[in-house]
Amino acid sequence: MKRSRSFRAEAVVLNHKDWGEADRLVFLYTRRHGKLRAVAKGARKMRSRKAGHLQPFTHVILQLAAARGPFIITQAETIRAFTPLREDIMLTGQAAYIVELLHRFIYDEEESNTAIFRLLIDSLARLEQGHRPWLVARYYEMRLLDYLGFRPQLQGCLHCGNPVKPQDQFFSGNEGGVICPDCSAPHPALRPVTMQTLKYLRYFQRSAYQEACRANPDEETRTEMENLMQFYLTYLLERGLNSPRFIREVSR
Ligand SMILES: [Zn+2]
Repeated sequence: MKRSRSFRAEAVVLNHKDWGEADRLVFLYTRRHGKLRAVAKGARKMRSRKAGHLQPFTHVILQLAAARGPFIITQAETIRAFTPLREDIMLTGQAAYIVELLHRFIYDEEESNTAIFRLLIDSLARLEQGHRPWLVARYYEMRLLDYLGFRPQLQGCLHCGNPVKPQDQFFSGNEGGVICPDCSAPHPALRPVTMQTLKYLRYFQRSAYQEACRANPDEETRTEMENLMQFYLTYLLERGLNSPRFIREVSR
């Protein structure tokens, strides 16, 4: 990215951490510049006006100045606060998962992707509006994989190319899709997937969100969908994600 001296950026605050004595380092996903890090000077002081705009999940307009190292936030203005996402522990866990996935998959200052920005805002809004969190999360994962170029192949067997038959199948993490029972052999990157779970994953993959909302799988299928997506995502990231564990712990 070309570093002009100062520019406006529409962004979602992913998270932040303390920086030096009084400052805060803020991780952002911006509409036009991808993921960025920026420092909010004095944001930890009692009367900082900026701090309120820079809470996790907040949709903001920022004025950023280029500096050696992270950008400097010179102005901040909230578009949408998403306050309920910080006030309800279950919602906080779900929103943290949405944000963490993006944080882990995308490096700083990669090319911007407005579709991902839109998906991020829409997913946070759906959580805030009380949509079923499992639906919001599974739909988000499926679309994010599309936009990142990791769309799983769920229509045909990756080995023999035959269309997937209505029976239980296998899913390959390293190849990113379905392997039919005839082609499968025991392998650590391969796990079974039931016909029912595959049916819903395929439905999510081809549907707009409004259609996906009509899905109503039973609890067992929802759990298997979640586990399969975690298996694939973890495979892609080569390490575990923190927030699904957090969500499971607070659900108990
Ligand atoms: Zn096959």
